[in-house]
Amino acid sequence: MGKEKGVKEIEDLPGVGPTTAEKLRDAGYSTLEKIATSSPHELSELSGMSVDNAKKAVEAARQATTLEYTSASDVYSARKALGRITTGSKDLNELLGGGAEVKAITEAYGRFGSGKSQLGFQLSVNAQLPRDKGGLEGTVLFIDTEGTFRPERIESMAESAGLDPTAVLDNIFVIRAENTEQQILSIERADKLIREKNVRLIVVDSLMALFRSEFMGRGALGERQQKLNSHIHRLQSLADSHSLAVYITNQVMDNPAILFGDPTTPVGGNIIAHAATTRLYMRKSKEDKRIVRLVDSPNMPEGEAVIKITESGIKD
Ligand code: ADP
Ligand code: MG
Repeated sequence: MGKEKGVKEIEDLPGVGPTTAEKLRDAGYSTLEKIATSSPHELSELSGMSVDNAKKAVEAARQATTLEYTSASDVYSARKALGRITTGSKDLNELLGGGAEVKAITEAYGRFGSGKSQLGFQLSVNAQLPRDKGGLEGTVLFIDTEGTFRPERIESMAESAGLDPTAVLDNIFVIRAENTEQQILSIERADKLIREKNVRLIVVDSLMALFRSEFMGRGALGERQQKLNSHIHRLQSLADSHSLAVYITNQVMDNPAILFGDPTTPVGGNIIAHAATTRLYMRKSKEDKRIVRLVDSPNMPEGEAVIKITESGIKD
């Protein structure tokens, strides 16, 4: 089917004009691969095109997408060029292999007051730094589900990083999500903001608080995990398609099955465990010190870093 030649973007698909393309993008269907693996019915539902036209678009997207193999050395060079956001602590950066990585989800879990939100604030400031200072020169989308976002902290951290606090605050787009619908929508509809404002970091602080309070009891667990699963996959897909970093915080519970040692376990079960690229466990130590343990990483050994939470932010 020579007709499908030259199909490079979703606008090139039959029956997809600029308006439909915009709708598809807003819903997260921004690549030919995504369309090729969608069902015509879902496409039709969210774009308003007829099922018949949607079938043609999916078929054309399938024709236009081929699987390409990449040599491991090319993967390696691409990985070396991936951006990272400095955490503000040399030790923690080393533990993470350089900082919070783009195209990945970094999760921090720990008890109340362990520093999860502070790290989120610090990354939101540092994402705006020039690249040679450990930033990505981008803006930030911050989803606050617990009402604990504090611009005062951003201001102090920005000053300490030598940035203009007003500009830094202007470049953090905060959504105060009051329920899981708002939380999910804030990510579903993020595509446009990300493109227009050069968002390089998404923070969800915290991922589970609303899910936990809205879906109580065993009966609701299935539905909760299903929604959570699609939410977190959407985060990963934004991270991949826009080369941005995702930082999520997570609550903990005591696992009664752990009799010896630390029973602190992140909530959210296997879905988060599998979806988070890198997991950090944060706990309080003496005074302003916090111990950060790397629990799970695809390429870094387990280990610990000690950081300090100070008035001017996260330090060694
Ligand atoms: P959580 O893990 O619950 O999100 P936070 O990240 O909010 O916890 O950390 C709260 C802790 O951060 C406080 O207990 C305090 O030790 C520290 N902190 C908050 N604000 C300041 C500040 N202005 N100066 C120094 N430390 C601070
Ligand atoms: Mg917090």
